[in-house]
Amino acid sequence: MALIVHKYGGTSMGSTERIRNVAKRVAKWARAGHQMVVVPSAMSGETNRLLGLASELAPSHAQSAYYRELDMLAATGEQASSALLAIALQAEGLPAISFTGWQVPVHTNSSYTKARIESIDDKRVRAELDAGRVVIITGFQGIDPNGHITTLGRGGSDTSAVAVAAALKAAEVLIYTDVDGVYTTDPRVVPAAKRLNTVSFEEMLEMASLGSKVLQIRSVEFAGKYKVPMRVLSSFTPWDIDVEEEARSGTLITFEEDEKMEKAVVSGIAFNRGEAKISVLGVPDTPGIAYSILGPVAEANIEVDVIIQNISKDGKTDFSFTVSQGDYQRAVELLREKVLPALGASEVVGNPNIAKVSIVGIGMRSHVGVASTMFRALSQESVNIQMISTSEIKTSVVIDEKYLELAVRALHTAFGLDKTEENA
Ligand code: ASP
Ligand code: MG
Repeated sequence: MALIVHKYGGTSMGSTERIRNVAKRVAKWARAGHQMVVVPSAMSGETNRLLGLASELAPSHAQSAYYRELDMLAATGEQASSALLAIALQAEGLPAISFTGWQVPVHTNSSYTKARIESIDDKRVRAELDAGRVVIITGFQGIDPNGHITTLGRGGSDTSAVAVAAALKAAEVLIYTDVDGVYTTDPRVVPAAKRLNTVSFEEMLEMASLGSKVLQIRSVEFAGKYKVPMRVLSSFTPWDIDVEEEARSGTLITFEEDEKMEKAVVSGIAFNRGEAKISVLGVPDTPGIAYSILGPVAEANIEVDVIIQNISKDGKTDFSFTVSQGDYQRAVELLREKVLPALGASEVVGNPNIAKVSIVGIGMRSHVGVASTMFRALSQESVNIQMISTSEIKTSVVIDEKYLELAVRALHTAFGLDKTEENA
């Protein structure tokens, strides 16, 4: 018997019929002898609907008083789905009780709409588990030190589930979703992509931050910090499949690296479409230029990703960096108005349609020549690399967005990730 946490996403909770299915699945696990804690998301579309109502009433909003009410409002989505799940479990003949974040309580800081969990009190939950009940805890929310309800940012129920699992020292947290695991890359781009049975926590962190949207990145950070074993699996399998079989399905995010030695050097190809590149040309090559360019950008709350500075010629250099497409216009205007005149640089140019493609794998640490395999594969497809950045376990290139799919497919094949009859 183990203490297990299940998390169900909005699609899995999307109708009373689906909630009944979730209840049957959870009941099956409880009847197999496990202590069960379940963290549901709001029913699909509900959070958007609620936030939409708020913006109908107040289209302009920049005040803390407004954000407080947004959290008060958005938190109800999970309150409703949690109560419905408890009712469905009771109807299955299983004792169940639901709690909102403040009832547990899940303590957070006071950053409305993007609060961070600080601690979780496990007493009340444990008492209910010991009394033989399934405990349901609303995802996505908590309470701040002044007693105000907070929410954790969109997709935050993943983080709630991992935090609850950490606080209860659960044996595993199972994240049930509408895909059946983590793939070597997006199967919509590469149909030969295959599901990974295991992926290391560090790889998952890179893949989540590089646009693989399966998990909220903060949940992966949390799992890493507290060493919570985490599994991503489908909620669309028949609810009555064998528990043991279900417990082994999907993708396990692991902390052991030894078993990886046998595995592929590169575990996955991650990519991000919505990026833009900006270059400041003819900048005087003097100390402090990176700061004079990127300082104002950071002050405007624009996040910068890959950065390169060319070698200088005649005391001048070019400086390029990437931002997200949504920030492109604002960043270019800011640089033209504020930075160009102050620096005496000649021009700001850019490309609002670039993409970043990355190969990710902890095996890269101990293998040389991985990057050159990447560059060869791209050159064979005549894909021009505009920027390169590397870290211990990934190499990223910035390319024109129109070559994205071609590049991802070529790399997937070059690193032996394509599904074949033997490895399918
Ligand atoms: N209901 C919240 C959202 O839609 C949290 C979650 O589903 O994880 O973002
Ligand atoms: Mg989600």
